[in-house]
Amino acid sequence: MFYKFLTFFYYLRAKYGLRFSSRAQLERYQQKQLKRILRYMKNHSPFYHTKNLSDKDLSSWPCMDKRVLMTHFDELNTANIPLEQAQHVARQAETTRDFTPKIGKYSVGLSSGTSGIRGVFLISPREQVQWSGTILAKMLPHSIFCKQKIAFFLRADNNLYESVKSRIIQFKFFDLKKPFEQHISTLQIFRPDILVAPPMVLYLLAQAQEQGKLHISPIKIISVADVLYDDVKQYISRIFKQKIHQIYQATEGLIACTCAHGHLHLNEELMLVQQKCLDKNSGRFIPILTDFNRTTQPIIRYELNDMLTLSSKPCPCGNPSLVIERIEGRCDDVLYAPGNPLRPVFPDFIVRLVLQYLPFVGNFQFRQISLTNAQLALPVDVKCPPELLTQLKQILPIQIDVAEYRPATNLTRKQKRVVREFSV
Ligand SMILES: [Zn+2]
Repeated sequence: MFYKFLTFFYYLRAKYGLRFSSRAQLERYQQKQLKRILRYMKNHSPFYHTKNLSDKDLSSWPCMDKRVLMTHFDELNTANIPLEQAQHVARQAETTRDFTPKIGKYSVGLSSGTSGIRGVFLISPREQVQWSGTILAKMLPHSIFCKQKIAFFLRADNNLYESVKSRIIQFKFFDLKKPFEQHISTLQIFRPDILVAPPMVLYLLAQAQEQGKLHISPIKIISVADVLYDDVKQYISRIFKQKIHQIYQATEGLIACTCAHGHLHLNEELMLVQQKCLDKNSGRFIPILTDFNRTTQPIIRYELNDMLTLSSKPCPCGNPSLVIERIEGRCDDVLYAPGNPLRPVFPDFIVRLVLQYLPFVGNFQFRQISLTNAQLALPVDVKCPPELLTQLKQILPIQIDVAEYRPATNLTRKQKRVVREFSV
């Protein structure tokens, strides 16, 4: 019962409390929160406790990424839980698909592991209800007291998502490991008000709707867990006749959510997002997160493996948090043109170029296999225009072969359009 009240508290706080009228006011709030979390970690995390760190100067704190977080897992977390125990519990939950792994009161989760190592994450009940309250406030189209049905398509269920459930809010988890056809009939019976799924699943559902195999009319559609490409977004939006919203969430935190205008705002009231600039002209950067509320497992100066592009336009909704134009994908998928030094080619260039010549071809994939070879895989009924190849070779002057694209059957995988298959 206590946690139900607490969820409600965080819901109200996110909906009405943490609102800022100006950038300056938001930044003042961030500075206060930053000091508070740094002081807490200095006192509670053995890793930071032994170091000579100032809670007034974030730049003196060590930088972190998934590798560092896992290497120092035991000393970093404030719950005194060893990595081995957490890994064991998390893996067991994935194989049995019983998603309630806990150590004492702490929930354990695994990150998807696209960047080689799988991260293990610990969440306290308070952090969990804070997440639920916040996400409900940010994403529910109606008040928390209105009956709403949420359909949630994900690779793995998690305590975190289950916690959103209540008597008023019905919540149904669709396991992407199960056959997709089954889900269509279940979804038809469930008739969700809110549909949450990775973009490729939303695309398949839109297709089913277009073909008359599905007749649902959700009032809100939210894309999660993968890059939402513009053409896919437009298609889903056209079929379901509405804006497509996004939640950009990682095991590291709730990083960004769309506002009523459909613009993706960084959740700067929850975390400090520093930018490691990749390309000044385009506003491309890697986010470095410092979460104000993660007290069990510190997320301090944590560098994500994602590339984002900042929007140059302010949002008319009034939220002074920065707006993300697009989430471009993993840093590991930046392609490289030969030369000394190697010249980076960002995935978005390739995607835009293909779509310029082949407006909406369904899905395709561009794989750079080595520094000399790449492959463009297109659906079987799509012919590659010679000009497209010429243009591609101009930005990536290597051998590019055309191949047949085989639609992914495993929906639990990320559906990347641009992939680099070698390391530099
Ligand atoms: Zn906005």
